[in-house]
Amino acid sequence: MTSEILIIGGGVIGLSVARELHKQGARGIAVIERGACGLEASWAAGGMLGPQAETDEAGIFFDVCSNSRDMYPEFAAGLLDETGIDVELDRTGTLYLALSEADAARLGERFSWQAKAGLQVERLSADDVRRAEPFVSPDVLGGLLFANDWQVENRRLLDALKTYAKTNGILLIGNSEVEHLDVESNAVIGAVANGERFNADHVVLTTGAWTSLIKIGVADMPFKVEPVRGQMVVLHTAKRLFQHVIYSPGGYLVPRRDGRLLAGSTSEKAGFDHAVTDDAAAGIRRMANLIAPSTAGLATVDHWSGLRPFAFDGLPIIGGIDGIDGLTIATAHYRNGILLAPITAKMVAKHVVDNAAIEPAFSPDRFKLRNVTGI
Ligand SMILES: Cc1cc2nc3c(=O)[nH]c(=O)nc-3n(C[C@H](O)[C@H](O)[C@H](O)COP(=O)(O)OP(=O)(O)OC[C@H]3O[C@@H](n4cnc5c(N)ncnc54)[C@H](O)[C@@H]3O)c2cc1C
Repeated sequence: MTSEILIIGGGVIGLSVARELHKQGARGIAVIERGACGLEASWAAGGMLGPQAETDEAGIFFDVCSNSRDMYPEFAAGLLDETGIDVELDRTGTLYLALSEADAARLGERFSWQAKAGLQVERLSADDVRRAEPFVSPDVLGGLLFANDWQVENRRLLDALKTYAKTNGILLIGNSEVEHLDVESNAVIGAVANGERFNADHVVLTTGAWTSLIKIGVADMPFKVEPVRGQMVVLHTAKRLFQHVIYSPGGYLVPRRDGRLLAGSTSEKAGFDHAVTDDAAAGIRRMANLIAPSTAGLATVDHWSGLRPFAFDGLPIIGGIDGIDGLTIATAHYRNGILLAPITAKMVAKHVVDNAAIEPAFSPDRFKLRNVTGI
């Protein structure tokens, strides 16, 4: 099979890249996926779009996260228009709680650098917090309100991206596991999956936590991406208990429009094992209970896990590899792949279509330059 652009991996990153490439005029796009598109980390996520809650300091990573968050209203509206699917972008905001003196000190630091940087952040007393969210623990000491940290229903987002692909001639090829990229004279010319050859003018690798298992010809990937397992528990509420995403140093609660309350998460080095464990569920329930004692009476209705793609410096890997033509990589979005999908798609599409440069801090070559591959 031959395509102009072959995207390997159909998670939120691969599917967003496919849509953006198509919008920028590229044609002959195919997405090849080991299983079915959108059933790995992107499906398991909480959908928080929280650069201010997630990032500890100002800098390039924070800027890129914030810029991507700012793209969401247009991203969501565009997808609604194109597919009829509402991805439930919820702009109520995120409440970051202090439940101990240590948390309060941490929130104080966060407030200082963000207020100094001119970001929208409001300091709330314990009474303010309880007025905003009456079900939060009476032990809360205070909090920060990030009005611009939002959430999206990531599974609806995946449905919308798949629908965009199907209705715009982007080929989605399932049940095809890429073993290696095909290389000729220092250029990637396609990939081999299940023994079958897929030729392409350009290959985009968006294989999340599995990226460094793929060989470039016979060579290993020149960086390492590791899976970090995250488990999530869903509680059933008859009516929505919270309006905001509730964040704390110990974990978070994400209230969905349909009444489900997502509680997460763990960060575990468990290889590629997707298992869920009773210990993790109990730990997440304890965390939820600390945030809001009234959750103790709620039934657990679902429990799942996903594998976050992690590079050892915690930053995404986006760009080409020096000396290898025809290949762009977009992986290692770790805890923020849903948030970073729109900006990653723009960066990759501009790079593939117009050869635009990508922020060097995210380059796959940074590991080589520092002479630390992490392998
Ligand atoms: C519990 C949890 C909570 C999270 N919460 C948030 C959140 O609130 N906000 C946020 O922004 N992010 C969150 N994340 C992180 C986010 O989910 C990831 O960063 C993001 O989904 C990564 O997207 P991806 O497309 O790179 O990876 P994936 O969604 O894992 O997609 C990669 C795809 O590549 C396919 N693939 C792999 N190898 C091959 C191969 N050899 N051949 C063909 N196909 C292949 C896989 O089958 C998979 O479908 C969370 C993650 C977890 C686990």
